[in-house]
Order: sequence, then C-alpha cells, then structure tokens
Amino acid sequence: MKNLGNVGNTIEILQKYNFSFRKKFGQNFLIDGNILEKIVDAAQITETDCVLEIGPGIGTMTQYLAERAKSVVAVEIDANLIPILQDTLSPYNNVKIINQDILKVDINHIVEEQNGGKPIKIVANLPYYITTPIIMSLLENHVKLQSITIMVQKEVADRMQAGPGTKDYGALSLAVQYYTKPEIIAKVPASCFMPRPNVDSTVIRLTRYEQPPVEALDEEYLFAVIRASFNQRRKTLINGLSNAGNLGICKERAAAVLEQMGLPAQIRGEALTLEQFAEFSNYILQKKE
Ligand code: SAM
Repeated sequence: MKNLGNVGNTIEILQKYNFSFRKKFGQNFLIDGNILEKIVDAAQITETDCVLEIGPGIGTMTQYLAERAKSVVAVEIDANLIPILQDTLSPYNNVKIINQDILKVDINHIVEEQNGGKPIKIVANLPYYITTPIIMSLLENHVKLQSITIMVQKEVADRMQAGPGTKDYGALSLAVQYYTKPEIIAKVPASCFMPRPNVDSTVIRLTRYEQPPVEALDEEYLFAVIRASFNQRRKTLINGLSNAGNLGICKERAAAVLEQMGLPAQIRGEALTLEQFAEFSNYILQKKE
C-alpha cells in the first residue's frame, strides 16, 4: 500500500473510490509528509503506546501512527470512508477502525479494552467544527490519557494558551491549563491540506499533568463557576455569578470573598487567573451553609 502523505497518492485513492468531501464533517486531509512526521514526532509515539486517532479520513496519519505505535484505534464518523480505510490500512494488523461520532464513543471503555486501562495518547487532525467540544469532553470526562497532539485552527490554539485580560481567554483556556501543559509545535499553511481550509492551522501538544497546578476542592464546581463567569463576559464577576442561579452564590457572599482575596468588587471574570478562580470557588465551598 502506498504512503498517502502526498498529493499524487491521495488523489489516486480519492478517485478510486469516487470520494466526495463532506464539508459538514470538516474534511481537510493532510497531504504533506513533513508535517505528518512532525505531528507524530511531537506525539512521541513509541512501540509501547496505544494511540487514539480522531477522524482518520482516508488513513493518511493513521499509516504514520501504525508504523510507530503498538496499536491505533481510529474513530471516523463518515461511513463512506470506512471501505477506504479498510483498504489503505490493510497492511497493518495493529489498527482498529470504529465508525462512530467521537462525541458518542465511550473512550474510557476503549482505554480499558485496548490498553488494559493504561493512559493512551491522542493524535488528530481535528474536524474544526467541533474542536472545542472534543477537547472539553476529553478533559472533563477524565479520559485516561498522557497527551493530546492535535491540529487545530490557529485561533483555537491561541485560546488554549491565552492568559487573563485577553480577548482569547475563556473556559477553554482554563480547562486546558488546569489539566495540561500546552505547547505549540508548528504553524501549518493551508497548502498542506486537500481541500485547502480558509483558516490558518497550528499543531499543539497538550501534556496531561499528574497533578493540576492549582488545588480545587471540587473540580466540577470550579468549572461551573468559570463557565458562568464567561457566559456573561461583560458583566462583573459578582453579577455574572449571582445571575447564574445554580451556584448558590449571592452578591453579598461573592463580594465578601473578593474582599478577602484582596480583589476589587468591580472585577470581571476575565481578569482572574486560574489560581484565583480556584481560590474563589474554594472559599465559597468552605463557607457554604
Ligand atoms: N486525519 C485525516 C488527515 O489528517 O488527513 C483527516 C482529518 S479531517 C480534518 C477530519 C476528519 O474527522 C474527517 O475524516 C471527518 O470525516 C472526521 N470527523 C468529523 N467529525 C467527526 C466526529 N464527530 N467523530 C469522528 N470523526 C469525525
């Protein structure tokens, strides 16, 4: 079977199967061997690793992963791609193809079944229309993973790395930085894909912390506070949280906690660091009647 990391072999497979790209699935296939090598290098795949690939497409990156990993599980939503994957990945006996929506798959079950419950590595050229839900669900569902190495839209990579007081800062930044250490690996031009996307892309690696950098008494509560703060971005933190209703925070309590933390009453959520969000929600929880 031919290596798919180039234009010629990609076109040949697409024509063989008369494949039409489906925009709604965010299909932009990689056709650049150097970028593919870079992604797989950055993921630090070794022969003891079990890798989950989200959206294998025609199997281009899957081939690179299968060469290096112990096993690869590839979850693809588009049923039209399954016969193609069975063809392009036929030389490999360490690849399992699953025809499913990644947001509906029980990934921890895959980890149990395929890797005896040991943390896996996730590698993907993600479909851009659902990048944030995929990352949030991997992190918040505590999927057992060592790292996530992914191609995303440049703006999403910027949001993952953003700090307080910037327009990019939000719930995604805080979730990524609570659970993982984000590192930009490469900027990728549109010419590396077929068809070309209308946006710039970035490869980013998120390495899971053994221990989060801040201590939260209740992670779910912390993220409920964070989400409520950014849902009403233009409001003060006090108004945003007391409007939320489901957090058990009234204006007086929020004001008292901010004062205790030495923060101004008019502060907006977007100005708080991860550490301050954790401190704030811990205070509220400790003093909840
Ligand atoms: N990995 C291939 C590559 O790099 O050439 C394809 C990447 S393409 C950007 C995204 C892939 O994800 C497509 O194959 C698309 O059909 C698939 N996809 C889209 N939504 C999905 C979902 N919810 N679950 C699983 N796969 C999905």
